[in-house]
Amino acid sequence: MRRLSIGVRLTLWYLAIFALAQLVFGMGMWLILRHNLYEMVDTDLKNQVEDLRTFFQAQKKNASVAKLHEEVNESYSIEHPGDYLQVHVESGELIYRSAFLQAHQAALLPPDQINQPMLKSRTIDGKAFRFIFAKLTNINGHTFTVETGVPAGDVVKTLSQFRSYLLMFAPLLLLSAAGGGYWLSRRALSPVDALVRTARDVGGTNLNSRLQKLETGDELQRLSDTLNEMLDRIESAFLRITQFTADASHELRTPISLIRTEAELTLRRPRADAEYKESLRHILMEAERTTALIEQLLSLARADSGREALDLKPVDLRQTLGNLIDGWRRVATMRNLQFSAKVDADIFVLGDGTLLRRLADILLDNAFKYTPSPGVVHLALETRGENAVISVVDSGVGITEEDQSKIFERFYRVDKARGRSNGGAGLGLAIAQWIVAQHRGLIAVESRPGQGSTFSVELPMIAVPAPSPVVF
Ligand code: ADP
Repeated sequence: MRRLSIGVRLTLWYLAIFALAQLVFGMGMWLILRHNLYEMVDTDLKNQVEDLRTFFQAQKKNASVAKLHEEVNESYSIEHPGDYLQVHVESGELIYRSAFLQAHQAALLPPDQINQPMLKSRTIDGKAFRFIFAKLTNINGHTFTVETGVPAGDVVKTLSQFRSYLLMFAPLLLLSAAGGGYWLSRRALSPVDALVRTARDVGGTNLNSRLQKLETGDELQRLSDTLNEMLDRIESAFLRITQFTADASHELRTPISLIRTEAELTLRRPRADAEYKESLRHILMEAERTTALIEQLLSLARADSGREALDLKPVDLRQTLGNLIDGWRRVATMRNLQFSAKVDADIFVLGDGTLLRRLADILLDNAFKYTPSPGVVHLALETRGENAVISVVDSGVGITEEDQSKIFERFYRVDKARGRSNGGAGLGLAIAQWIVAQHRGLIAVESRPGQGSTFSVELPMIAVPAPSPVVF
């Protein structure tokens, strides 16, 4: 089932609360009015009882019941307060009963049920009355039971009029409350509609558009600001990806067109075997570079998508780096460079052995690439506090301070032409940085142009694991 809009829900809530408040208020007012009106009538009745007390006290001390009967009749039968009066003495004998009560015996309480003053509303012959039942004790040696009433038609009429006014105005009030509530909620939520309209239009081609900036200083402003910040982040991520795709295509196009040109030129006319061989050797070299580039691109793409799973285990850095030394020594000989390594400390980190090997290879490869002969490359492994530090020092071309902050960016090469001739696409250090980040480490560079560079990687160490038991 489709949910109602927030505007309609707010209106319904507003209406429900308003109706409840109106009900409570109306009932409260009605009860107060009723209480006040009956209090006026009840005071009148109590005064009548007091008048009777004064009347009986004024009678002779030893007056007989018959005499009292006569006196009361004389005083009350023609007076208004006697219209609904009835008086008994303790013997149960009737002293006075008005004509009205005579005719409506059933309306009265038996005298023995009246212990203390009691006020009651009654309807007799379709008319409303209020009665008081009271005992007047110890008056000239007698106890009188008095019942007297007054018509309460006016009270009932006023109350019922008040009730009808309430019922008459309630729907009008509720209707205007509903209208007002709906208008208020529409007004409060109209900026949301504006946000929705703009948000609906934001797509890949206009990611730079932003939601209307609200200056309401409330939750809606916070919402629009937060959505705009989110769009900022999405836009820069989107730009990074499009930039990456553009750079990657550009980098791939160069070796592929080299391969094509080489093949086309070679096939233009018949050649000697040696020429074909030379040409194929060039093609193979470019193909190998392209494969290496694709490998790097794939690594970064997997890293971005979070699919490059790390196989974290205790890694013996001395062994990992030690295994690389011989290979790089041969490269050093070929390039006429001096290579030394100091990796003799027992240092373990929690990491992925393959990735850590790749990290060292990237740093060493750069050191060799950017150090002209004669020069020096040195690999070291040591501890610094709780961390293991791998450093690769070279006496190569060095990096300016300005470039040092950019070399970890993807596709950044200090010297584009030199980088390409050495086979680098500017991805090595970006991959190295990702590997270090995955190991919760830090990578830093110190360098001076013309004097060489030092790349150092700090990784958190773990205790040397106990050797696993040998099973025979
Ligand atoms: P590349 O594959 O081009 O070497 P990297 O990301 O590994 O890409 O390096 C980025 C840039 O940083 C390189 O183009 C190079 O200019 C510079 N660089 C990296 N390592 C060194 C170094 N040891 N000495 C001098 N420059 C370096």
